[in-house]
Amino acid sequence: MNFPVGSQMLDAHSRRMFLKCAGVAAVGAGLPGCVATHQQSAVQPGGTTPREVRVKIAAPADPLVARTFAILKDRIEQRCAANVMEAQDRAQIILTVDDRLAPEAFRFDRTGGAVRVSGGSPRGLLYGIGKFLRTSRYDAAFQPSACRGISKPHGSLRGMYFASHFHNWYVQASDAEIARYLEDLALWGVNAVMVIFPMINLQDWNDPEAAPAMDMVRKYARTARALGIEFATGINNTMFIGAPANIRAKRLPDPTGRRGNSGHPICPSNPEGHAYLMENARQLYAKLADVGLDILVHWPYDEGGCACEQCQPWGSNGYLKLSRDLTRLGQSYFPKMKTVLSTWMFDTPPEGEWQGLTDALAKGEHWVDFILADAHEDFPRYPLDVGVPGKLPLLNFPEISMWGNWPWGGFGANPLPARFQRLWDQVKQSVRGGFPYSEGIYEDMNKAAVVQFYWDPNRTARATLEEYIAYEFGPGVTNDVLAIIDLLEATASNSYRKKPVDQEAVLRAYYHAEAVAARLPDYAQRNWRWEILHLRAVLDRERFAGGSLDSPTAEAAMLRLVEIYHCQIETDDPYHHRVRPPLRRAVNRAGKK
Ligand SMILES: [Zn+2]
Repeated sequence: MNFPVGSQMLDAHSRRMFLKCAGVAAVGAGLPGCVATHQQSAVQPGGTTPREVRVKIAAPADPLVARTFAILKDRIEQRCAANVMEAQDRAQIILTVDDRLAPEAFRFDRTGGAVRVSGGSPRGLLYGIGKFLRTSRYDAAFQPSACRGISKPHGSLRGMYFASHFHNWYVQASDAEIARYLEDLALWGVNAVMVIFPMINLQDWNDPEAAPAMDMVRKYARTARALGIEFATGINNTMFIGAPANIRAKRLPDPTGRRGNSGHPICPSNPEGHAYLMENARQLYAKLADVGLDILVHWPYDEGGCACEQCQPWGSNGYLKLSRDLTRLGQSYFPKMKTVLSTWMFDTPPEGEWQGLTDALAKGEHWVDFILADAHEDFPRYPLDVGVPGKLPLLNFPEISMWGNWPWGGFGANPLPARFQRLWDQVKQSVRGGFPYSEGIYEDMNKAAVVQFYWDPNRTARATLEEYIAYEFGPGVTNDVLAIIDLLEATASNSYRKKPVDQEAVLRAYYHAEAVAARLPDYAQRNWRWEILHLRAVLDRERFAGGSLDSPTAEAAMLRLVEIYHCQIETDDPYHHRVRPPLRRAVNRAGKK
């Protein structure tokens, strides 16, 4: 059905892309802009407890719409005494799909007495419900969001890379926890998740660890795709440890020591090496065939590369040819599969890889959909100054997990909004999305900030955290929690730069956190997101302001983090200490702590 006039109006609105949120729960000091809305639409107190919240599902039947309703019901009921039910009449919330909107866009408006959330598709509806939940209020009674208008994402690929190794949270969490966490990320607008099958740690397909590792990859693919999140995996010329010696790559020149030389890469210019790479890729695709693969990410260095005469310069020669062959093979299994070509550490040292890639894509290599660029520190200049090869959308790969904390997550949350804002401001004119590198759940605030940059490049990390805090921790604590985050970030920055830590600031963060804890509603006190932030303030005090990591307080705090992350106190994984709080009693049986 066509709505020519309406559709034109909608397009004009979409171009302006506005979503106005009157008095969005910024500081929790009342909602000056939506008192009338509040009085009209708040679930009336005084009835029986829990109060009814009536939701009409006006969208066509679809598993993701049903899931979105279930998420809405669960999150509201978690936060206040409400009974959220599906209802045909007297609805306070209407969920619908309006295909005049862009597929990932959503709109909030009022119709009759209800707030209507419309998505351009079931995925758009899910993102809209994320915004709706975060801008609703849960203090005395549930108060539906006062936002009105349309929101449409700027970046089309808003990914996360889950580094599933070292027995970190991604490996250890239960299926239910993973499903819930993916729901929470989707509510923020994440639409792609990358998980890699770790050939680099395995002898071959018969390695006893191969089947469990593949089960995990397949579980992430299934769980993500059920939420409309695209599934991505990575591939390169480093495959199994047990690869024959005669097909190995020539070691890379690495004068700056930044490219890495992990694993046992294979030379794809050697016909036998090429056949080995293609055969293992074929088996990987076959094992993913029933769960699906939406995006294939090619990676040039660290795990990968070959410096032989036929392959070099790797980034614009051997790598490009191999990536094309792996893509074509992949598309025989997954015809709609998209490709991301990473340029990580290109031209380190300068050898014309960026320019070579530009020249190759200009000659008509049409199998690449996205170019990914990033580096250890400064973003590469080439795509910013010269332009992106193939004029393709540019993705980044921000490291949100490791900077300024060791072990990673070992002292709790690591919010770094100022750091990520500064890095984003350098690239926001060019970058259209990306895959932040994640080691666990302790950087949840960083994830929210970065994915919202992808959604709206001009939205500040601070604005995102205000929304995060009001939603996760309840009303009236936003400014205090922001102050805690600023203090924790300053401490992490000083510690990282080997500058003296300001003990007075560490104590202030701690006292703020104790004061906030006393004021939180029950659901927020039980929320691991609050716990890991609170524990970080406690552990910073023990580390930097007169306590000790051997104190009973520090030990109790670290044990709680161990529980939240599902760490192993005794482990056979020689790398587990990278993601485990540094408890004295923790044991690495492999003996290589
Ligand atoms: Zn080679």
